[in-house]
Amino acid sequence: MPTYALVTFGCQMNQHDSDRIGEVLRRAGYEERPSPEQADLVLLNTCSVREKAEQKLRSEVGRLGMLKRERPSLVIGVAGCVAQQEGERLLKRMPQIDLVIGPDCIPDLPKALIDLELGAPPQVRVGFDVDEPHFLQADPLPGKSPVSAFVTIMKGCDERCSFCIVPTTRGPERYRPAAEIVDEIQRLVAAGTREVTLLGQTVNSYRDPSASLPLAPDAEASPDESEFSALLRSVVERVPNLWRLRYTSPHPRHLTRSLIRAHAELAPLVRHVHMPVQSGSDRVLKRMIRRYTAEEYCARVDALRAVVPNVTLSTDVIVGFPGETREDFEATLALVEKVGFTGVFAFKYSVRPSTPAQRLADDVSEVEKSARLVELIGVADARRRAHLESLVGSVEAVLIEGRRENGALNGRTERNEIVHIPAVDGDWVGQIVPVRIERAFKNSLQAALLDAQPSAPREAHPRAADKGPLRLRVVA
Ligand code: SF4
Repeated sequence: MPTYALVTFGCQMNQHDSDRIGEVLRRAGYEERPSPEQADLVLLNTCSVREKAEQKLRSEVGRLGMLKRERPSLVIGVAGCVAQQEGERLLKRMPQIDLVIGPDCIPDLPKALIDLELGAPPQVRVGFDVDEPHFLQADPLPGKSPVSAFVTIMKGCDERCSFCIVPTTRGPERYRPAAEIVDEIQRLVAAGTREVTLLGQTVNSYRDPSASLPLAPDAEASPDESEFSALLRSVVERVPNLWRLRYTSPHPRHLTRSLIRAHAELAPLVRHVHMPVQSGSDRVLKRMIRRYTAEEYCARVDALRAVVPNVTLSTDVIVGFPGETREDFEATLALVEKVGFTGVFAFKYSVRPSTPAQRLADDVSEVEKSARLVELIGVADARRRAHLESLVGSVEAVLIEGRRENGALNGRTERNEIVHIPAVDGDWVGQIVPVRIERAFKNSLQAALLDAQPSAPREAHPRAADKGPLRLRVVA
């Protein structure tokens, strides 16, 4: 049986793509191996959003090239954003590569591998499936499904933020039919999944291509309105044993009235939103083409907080965008303080090929970018630490996601705080359990279980205990 190893660079979306690639390969008769040294095919699933992607790829391909000298039958493939962006050029620059395959061409992977086996020259498949979008289905195995799973609902992006390469590497927005999404979540939950995160580059711009969703309450026509809240309602209604529902990443301009109402009314929708802000300066936001002001962002956060009082927010921020002055940066610091994010993923700006910002002078020095990054991380860390310390002594509901080698349990609260629980016997994984928070660390919490035994398990729906009195129930 042929074997494969997958090496994944980058974001959750890429990890999710790797999971689907693995399923495609396994269906084609391949068996997974933990390392390239043991595999007939090594697929590098690349990301070009922030990293020095090509350098990273070049060094990995160089390493695999040495392996290929010893074992000429080794097939080296490149998937993901760098494959999409560079296509044929990769073969010229790195002749060790046998296969370049873009995210939309993954269903063609088995055929491309057969062609290679039959002696075809190196293969490049990087078209977008614009006319007939295809979404790879998860293949959950009963009892082996992760407690927490990702489900793609859309791909591509129409926003064209000036710093971002995603519209180039992932193409225009394409949406998955609502019935297919619901079906996948039903299958995951039937196989043991308890929490689902809906995935998309601008997940809350979702529209159902099959036009099957009824209009959600408060979803009157407006330029920012989408059918995302209607999809959330459909998922909650049709998958009653889904305990927690998350989504990432939303665009702030689609945090509309109907979505805020969904947060108020849908019990499984968690009290945490990761909503990229990128900058607190209107001048910079305009140059980034983000289509909102800092005040509008804060107004939407306030509207959400008004109906979901304990909601936590995390965000992405870019420092040192072209033209960012000290004053602009201070506006970002002020916004981070004002919103009180419990997580900030901060990055230094670096120019990406084929982006509008490439035409702007990258005029903030590396030294200044690094200094601003350190300052921002300092502010964000202090805020998160204060938040975590405020939870010591409280009782929280934690979804247990796994067990470490030392027997300790790990899980998350609905507000996305990471919780560790010292080693204890019993089948706790996949349960939502009450814990008392005993200690706060820099990024996580330590807690003690309040139940002596795992409760009778997966059929029991802990939603009421999980939510407490804060949330309303589903409105028909
Ligand atoms: S919304 Fe902007 S940052 Fe996000 S994927 Fe689209 S273009 Fe990139």
